[in-house]
Amino acid sequence: MMEIEHWDESHDVLVVGSGSAALSAALRVSVAGLRCKIIEKSEWIGGTSAMSGAGTWIPANHHATAAGLKDSSDDALAYLRSASPAGWQAREDHLWMAFAHAAPHALRFIETHSPLRFTLTREPDILQEREGGKAGGRMLSPKPLSKWIVGRYAGKIRPSTLPHLFTYQEVYDGNLYHRPVQATLRVLPRLIWRLLSRSRAQGSALITGLLKGCLEHGCRVETDARAVELVPDTNGHIVGLVVDAGGVRKRYRAFAGVVIASGGFEWNREMLTEHFPGELDWLGSPRTNEGDGQRMMAAVGGALAHMDQANVYPSIPTQYERKPHGLPITFQAAKHAIIVNRNGKRFVSEYDFNIGVAVDRRDPVTGQPQNLPAWLIADNRLLKEAPPLAWCARRSPNWLVKADSLQDLASKIGVPATAFKETVARFNGFCRLGKDLDFRRGESPWEQFKAGGSDNAMGLIERPPFLAAPFNRSILGTKGGARTNELGQVLRENGAIIQGLYAAGLAMANPIGTFAVAPGTTIGPNLTWGFICGEALANRTRYEHASELKPNRRQMGVRQ
Ligand SMILES: Cc1cc2nc3c(=O)[nH]c(=O)nc-3n(C[C@H](O)[C@H](O)[C@H](O)COP(=O)(O)OP(=O)(O)OC[C@H]3O[C@@H](n4cnc5c(N)ncnc54)[C@H](O)[C@@H]3O)c2cc1C
Repeated sequence: MMEIEHWDESHDVLVVGSGSAALSAALRVSVAGLRCKIIEKSEWIGGTSAMSGAGTWIPANHHATAAGLKDSSDDALAYLRSASPAGWQAREDHLWMAFAHAAPHALRFIETHSPLRFTLTREPDILQEREGGKAGGRMLSPKPLSKWIVGRYAGKIRPSTLPHLFTYQEVYDGNLYHRPVQATLRVLPRLIWRLLSRSRAQGSALITGLLKGCLEHGCRVETDARAVELVPDTNGHIVGLVVDAGGVRKRYRAFAGVVIASGGFEWNREMLTEHFPGELDWLGSPRTNEGDGQRMMAAVGGALAHMDQANVYPSIPTQYERKPHGLPITFQAAKHAIIVNRNGKRFVSEYDFNIGVAVDRRDPVTGQPQNLPAWLIADNRLLKEAPPLAWCARRSPNWLVKADSLQDLASKIGVPATAFKETVARFNGFCRLGKDLDFRRGESPWEQFKAGGSDNAMGLIERPPFLAAPFNRSILGTKGGARTNELGQVLRENGAIIQGLYAAGLAMANPIGTFAVAPGTTIGPNLTWGFICGEALANRTRYEHASELKPNRRQMGVRQ
């Protein structure tokens, strides 16, 4: 293919997307003095990352060290190996190694070069009993930041479906889900201050802080600009990007490289149906995540992998941008509730962090989901004990199915009544026994932590009206994308590197798939993989076009 001669703009690095992976990469290269531009398709900055709780899993981090908690990259690697599903180590080990070693540096780098500050949360690893697992010290979330610090971009940070007025820890410590009024009163003065100072926590703080760091180091941002095509030179090296900005096609040169961090493909109906056949409930990410990055990388020879992996997370219906949307909440972890499959049988512990894996389980022959449609079944205490659910049920009147008997509920949701009633009776028997003989609900350290003690994990389903809510796959982000090496460089099917092309976050073939070894294992790795790509780009000796890099004006002391 002939190299395109005409360029509308020239940069050292172009970053596609403005979520956690993108901004981390942009910060790293901008601090190194490379001229970077962020290309964001939406009018909003921050992607799913801005909407998120920003629970961030970074092992061996300096906050844990300061708190006297022992951890190391070797422990983290041992944990990734011991906790991940069989078969993953063979393909992902080199990437886990790169992540485990870079993650603490990425976090320190971000805190050194941006106003973003993290604090530890109390969440343990979900399999802390396995080799390398920890009871705490690896999960962090950002402290609140005022949006004013990003000046004219303050109104451009993507809003969330979650209440970012609260910090991640306040949500859990105050039990916002079960006691919203008390949780609010508990921190009311802080909330008022945050309202007055336009401060927000969680994903809003994450993006505000990263963006401020990028801007301070000379990085530029273009919103409402969709990357549509990667431009290779005659050797197949990526040298630029075609961008659609408000209907006008522009060609942007990238002397050092292009980082694709455009998130998942969940809003691309065709790709979603191909890789996730069967029942789906809700999507939780912005509608602009349509797999453009995956498509562009495949078009220049990038090998795609893990396309059937995703962040499958329990969600309830809400509205976002005036359209139906998913709000991730672990609403199934309720005392008087169980999940049943289409046969009316339980198939997983309802407190399992990776319940999404069980929900998404496929038939090895047909590739179709084995358990769907699935249902959350509860008695009338479900809504009383969780006001947000009651609110949601009022706003989405068709969401819950109600019946005065289990027999009627079974016929309304179309599951075999006899098997269904036996399942409820068996679960009630386990409640009386104080032990779930089928799925050991509430027994593991993680499930005890989530239930607030094993005594709290199970309660009889006996009081009508009985309720059923759909419990199919809700997706916060697909995790399939371009296969990359330890430097984030995109690889061809034969393992060769596509020079000048990098991928991070959910646009890469994510080394942690549907099965997550801990909460925060999308944002933490995303920040790290963005950092790794940026670090590789900052090391000019690795690049074909290094000789063409222009000195950065800021680096030379020139006022911008
Ligand atoms: C409500 C909610 C809470 C969550 N909480 C957590 C949590 O606590 N911890 C955790 O680890 N994970 C959490 N997640 C998941 C996590 O937020 C995502 O997996 C992660 O943010 C994805 O990051 P990313 O950088 O890969 O993509 P994104 O943050 O989605 O960014 C991708 C960006 O690329 C842009 N884009 C797409 N195509 C183009 C194009 N062609 N040109 C230019 N731009 C393009 C999109 O508009 C978007 O802004 C949560 C998700 C949700 C919805």
